[in-house]
Amino acid sequence: MPSDLVIVYHRQPYEEVEVDGKIEYRENKSPNGIVPTLKSFFGRVDKGAWVAWKLAEDTSNPDFDRVVEIEDSYGEYTVSRLPLTEEQVRSFYHVTSKEAFWPILHSFKDKYNYDPVDWPTFREVNWAFAEAAAAEAAQGAAVWVHDYNLWLVPGYLRKMRPDLKISFFHHTPFPAADIFNVLPWRHEIVESLLACDVVGFHIPRYANNFVSVARSLFDVEVTRRERVTDDFVSPGTALSERTTPTELAYDGRKVAVSASPVGVDVDFILARAGTEATAQKADAVRTEKGDAQLILSVSRTDYTKGGVEQLLTYERLLQRRPELRGKVRLMHVSVSANRNMAAYGEVQSEIEQIAGRINGTFGSFEWQPVALISSAIPFEDLIGYYQAADVAWITPLADGMNLVAKEFVAARTDGDGVLVLSEFAGAAVEMSASVLVNPFSNRAMDRAIDTALSMGRKERQERMALLRDVVKRYDIGHWGAEQMALLGIPGPVPAAAE
Ligand code: UDP
Repeated sequence: MPSDLVIVYHRQPYEEVEVDGKIEYRENKSPNGIVPTLKSFFGRVDKGAWVAWKLAEDTSNPDFDRVVEIEDSYGEYTVSRLPLTEEQVRSFYHVTSKEAFWPILHSFKDKYNYDPVDWPTFREVNWAFAEAAAAEAAQGAAVWVHDYNLWLVPGYLRKMRPDLKISFFHHTPFPAADIFNVLPWRHEIVESLLACDVVGFHIPRYANNFVSVARSLFDVEVTRRERVTDDFVSPGTALSERTTPTELAYDGRKVAVSASPVGVDVDFILARAGTEATAQKADAVRTEKGDAQLILSVSRTDYTKGGVEQLLTYERLLQRRPELRGKVRLMHVSVSANRNMAAYGEVQSEIEQIAGRINGTFGSFEWQPVALISSAIPFEDLIGYYQAADVAWITPLADGMNLVAKEFVAARTDGDGVLVLSEFAGAAVEMSASVLVNPFSNRAMDRAIDTALSMGRKERQERMALLRDVVKRYDIGHWGAEQMALLGIPGPVPAAAE
């Protein structure tokens, strides 16, 4: 049966495990992240489908189970899996997406690597995703495509199926034209995006950058310029940062542009935060840290996340303020997902080197200044760390949103704790009650960590109350409802948009 809603997302929406030689599809045990939210929309339509890739040694193998019917707590839905070889995955995902697009999206021109890109493979894979989506979609269905590794899907899909409603959401930043236009395939990418009915971003700045990129390449007309009606943007934000063109006209079609920041599942975090297991974890962390203030930093290892700059700031802190030695501890979680890719391996080594130097220079038998953790902490445990930390230190150089910042705030049911947040995380647009910092300035980084460590209880609580309001109001449900409204799928109107 054809589907009314087709979600095109590069990963499969479950874990595949082999039990006694048989494949079982298990719901992902970690309900944080975007996948459960996306699946929850299947409950609003008669039939839903998901398109993803799956590794196949031989893509023409007739035994490859291309389409599977899944039944889990989100109901019944179809998953269409594209068989891709290891080489295709490497080329389309690890090379083109991660070595060429990722640095440009995050404004790191110097990390951009054009040479290994095999553009025909990127096109081929995106074409296959479009074909699979077209095969699942009912007449007039909504197709929701996610992220830059599928940039060409909307253009192909529009040609195959002009009847579809196509929406594309960017989970990353979107840079200004001077940076984006470094990509030699810029025309092809942007023309594909202009084939959408809706192009979505987290915050107005990214949406504005997209509009300026589109206008730098094509005769795109802005047909509706509206103030962002939602009030998620913090007070005092400049008008241009709150305003985005909401409709473009190109090639006889209208394209809606949206800015809506993804949130976290606050109800889920609150439920976990209240369990005995979380309380025990938090207590154990508090006992371990003793009298010292615990600074917590959590991210993937990536040059965009600013881990090196953060450790250098911590090293300066211990040099500048000897009285803090023995009185602070940094837990630096830097999860290395891509150690085999040169750019990520380099950052990892640099982080390990600086952390080692700090521990060697300032540490003693009784006191280890930095605990460096490279393997992922289960989400449930992470909530315990969030609760026990004195300061969450989140200073990416560029980040589409940053969910860790929102999770930390949601987990602080005690209404205490300080969030230091980079101005260059999308989340900063909503979270101005944090200690906002420019991570490119040593002086600003020094000041921000000093402010956080010396902040009085009253100020901490006032700021945390403001942050908790924002995080609760603009949670994942709010984001999802807005996205569904843009796709024309009926459902409850988000509270803040009423
Ligand atoms: N995360 C986790 N364990 C870890 C580190 C991170 O579960 O040890 C989760 C974290 O809770 C968050 C996600 O990974 O939900 C990271 O999302 P974010 O938006 O901060 O960054 P991204 O990695 O998507 O750029």
